[in-house]
Amino acid sequence: MASTRIIDLLRGDLTIDPDQNPDHLCTVRGWVRTKREGKEIAFLEVNDGSSLQGLQIVLSPTLDDYEALIKQINTGVSIAATGKLVASTGKGQKVEMQAREITVFGTADPETYPLQKKRHSIEFLRTIAHLRPRTNMFGAVFRVRNACAFAVHQFFQERGFLWVHTPIITASDCEGAGEMFGVTTLDLQKLGLAGKPVDYSQDFFGKPAFLTVSGQLEAEIMATAFSNVYTFGPTFRAENSNTSRHLAEFWMIEPEVAFCDLEGDADLAEDFLKYIFNYVLKTCPEDMEFFQERVNDQVMVNARKIIDEQFERISYTEAIAILEKCDKKFEFPVSWGLDLQSEHERFLAEEYFRKPVIVMDYPLGIKAFYMRVNDDTASDRQTVRAMDILAPGVGEIIGGSQREERLDLLEARIRSVGLNPEDYWWYLDLRRYGTVPHAGFGLGFERLVQFITGMGNIRDVIPFPRFPQSAEF
Ligand code: ATP
Ligand code: MN
Repeated sequence: MASTRIIDLLRGDLTIDPDQNPDHLCTVRGWVRTKREGKEIAFLEVNDGSSLQGLQIVLSPTLDDYEALIKQINTGVSIAATGKLVASTGKGQKVEMQAREITVFGTADPETYPLQKKRHSIEFLRTIAHLRPRTNMFGAVFRVRNACAFAVHQFFQERGFLWVHTPIITASDCEGAGEMFGVTTLDLQKLGLAGKPVDYSQDFFGKPAFLTVSGQLEAEIMATAFSNVYTFGPTFRAENSNTSRHLAEFWMIEPEVAFCDLEGDADLAEDFLKYIFNYVLKTCPEDMEFFQERVNDQVMVNARKIIDEQFERISYTEAIAILEKCDKKFEFPVSWGLDLQSEHERFLAEEYFRKPVIVMDYPLGIKAFYMRVNDDTASDRQTVRAMDILAPGVGEIIGGSQREERLDLLEARIRSVGLNPEDYWWYLDLRRYGTVPHAGFGLGFERLVQFITGMGNIRDVIPFPRFPQSAEF
């Protein structure tokens, strides 16, 4: 018999044809979460990952080898159960299954199985990343992550954006966005022993190559042909930052829009976040309730605010003025020209405005060369058309900008940051031939999942986190 997903049974989505299946039998497959034994009866809770809630399965001595079966079945065991679905008299579930037949696929020794019934600390679960997906919390996290990913594509596809695949291996430190991982086929061991400078012409690509820190520059190429594009792929930064919001490997979403300015870019980003939250609330209500109850009681309030309220929009200069005027003691200095630190970003979003804030027009000195220079700013306070979106609980979630589309200005900027325009010949060609105003942003996918779920540490919203000294699993 074909098996049924537990979520379909719980939602009552299963229709049984009484002619074909007079006994109303169905089959589920999954892993046993708990076993309770009574006199001549046993209850299993089985979970197949399709929903937070599992299915209660009632076992009675009418089953073949009842005693042996009960002994064999413990937490962690994988089974198939066929039986009749009946209304449940117990609390907490509408339906349960009266088992007619149980097949055990794999046993699990209760003495050694690391996931016991009790609640485990999130730090402990991180050390067993191969088993933590079987817990309620990580089940909820990865279902929501999946819903977010689907919503990302749906949002852009509905609006006619082309999903473009930008390279993972790159030969240019696109934007100096972060420390890069080198990619080489050279024998490092041998090179180290030789003690000589590396001859990259002998390397696979004939020059130094790296894992990408951003697909933006290539996305700009595609945007100047398809108008509206987005990337959604893995991104790597070898930054040695042991924080709760940085990973060495994360997923980034980068829309790039031709014929768009910074305001249009901010509108797109705001619509986008609202859309994702809406989608997740609609498709994962139980998981979201779980986060509300068990992780952070502000999760629902935050989500509703994102959806219902307009984001605050202020300039960098206004942000500095607010930070300078407030009584809060910050660890890092605040002054015009310095970058906003996480504590400043969180103060603005969490305490001052209590909602997402879009900060625009940052000082030229702290932003990447490709951002469009504002013409009307004083020469000692020059700004660029950059915007960051700061979210309560997370800080920076989106970084974006209108790009410099003027060839001469872009060339000058590249030079002024000590880069060689010749290395960017193809990027400059986009300004040489049919240049257009255009803008885009980068959203860290894991920060989005953190934001939605309220999970405190970014390492807990990606199945297999990569961070300094850690690449197990
Ligand atoms: P931060 O200052 O927080 O390190 P950034 O300024 O380096 O961020 P960008 O280069 O603008 O970030 O990257 C765009 C987005 O990618 C960020 O807004 C953030 O959501 C995400 N991001 C950046 N670095 C990381 C990282 N190491 N791990 C996870 N997400 C990241
Ligand atoms: Mn960074």
